Amino acid sequence: MDGALMTRDLDGRSVIVTGAGSGIGRAAALAFAAQGDRVVVADLDAERADAVVELIGQAGGTAVAVTGDLSEQAVVDRVTATAVERFGGVDVLVNNAGIMDSMSAVGDVSDAEWERVIRVNLTAPFLLTRAVLPHMLTAGSGAIVNTASEASLRGSAAGAAYTASKHGVVGLTKSLAVMYRKNGIRANAICPGGTATAIAVEADRTAHGPAAIAPHFVNLGRLSQPEEQAAVILFLASEAASNINGAILPVDDGWSAV
Ligand code: NAD
Repeated sequence: MDGALMTRDLDGRSVIVTGAGSGIGRAAALAFAAQGDRVVVADLDAERADAVVELIGQAGGTAVAVTGDLSEQAVVDRVTATAVERFGGVDVLVNNAGIMDSMSAVGDVSDAEWERVIRVNLTAPFLLTRAVLPHMLTAGSGAIVNTASEASLRGSAAGAAYTASKHGVVGLTKSLAVMYRKNGIRANAICPGGTATAIAVEADRTAHGPAAIAPHFVNLGRLSQPEEQAAVILFLASEAASNINGAILPVDDGWSAV
């Protein structure tokens, strides 16, 4: 184990959480910080990201905000450089930022919507993963946790672009698990069911429009809280999950079991 890694172990791990300004990412950032990890709070929304960093600071934790659109390489580079320069490397990457689509059927999706949703939900996690991998490879360890979706597990009325992007996140996660297991790097994904966050409020509002997609929501069960999703992210990033690699884990109160 090299000196830098030992220092990080003593000071808490260096953790990047994307979409950490709101919802599941915010809950995960707060929980990592509460257990002593140092967190890069990455989000498009500067005000929300700063508020999370302030909250962590008030509780005695360590965090830094990096704001910008994670589908841009320059922002990805800034996030990675901040983790390396401020916290000595990247021990944990949580690719969590995501956007909904208009819940359109395949035939109604515009080029612009398709490209934007794929770019934010799938290409951005790829870009950030590619950027942090050299640091994890040098350290000989790392944990990546991706936020997929219940829409990763079936054809979904959540919309064609969203569903395709979240299936892609599963492919990215499994490829990482297979390709880097010998390097001490694990990659897993959670598949949240309906969770009480801003994105779900918007989905719910849209879902009450077209009657065709209503059956999709019949078996939803209770909405989960962002903290319940965050707890599973923390588990998958922890030593307790040291033999879990390539898992695609529903966190949905049994919705996907119906
Ligand atoms: P949220 O809207 O509360 O949080 C998403 C955060 O991501 C926001 O702070 C937003 O600013 C940020 N973000 C969006 N696009 C970005 C970009 N291009 N660059 C940087 N940051 C960006 O929603 P949430 O429910 O916490 O969503 C987190 C993840 O959970 C998403 O990937 C979402 O698809 C997934 N998910 C959510 C639900 C649910 O019901 N809430 C269900 C399944 C999956």
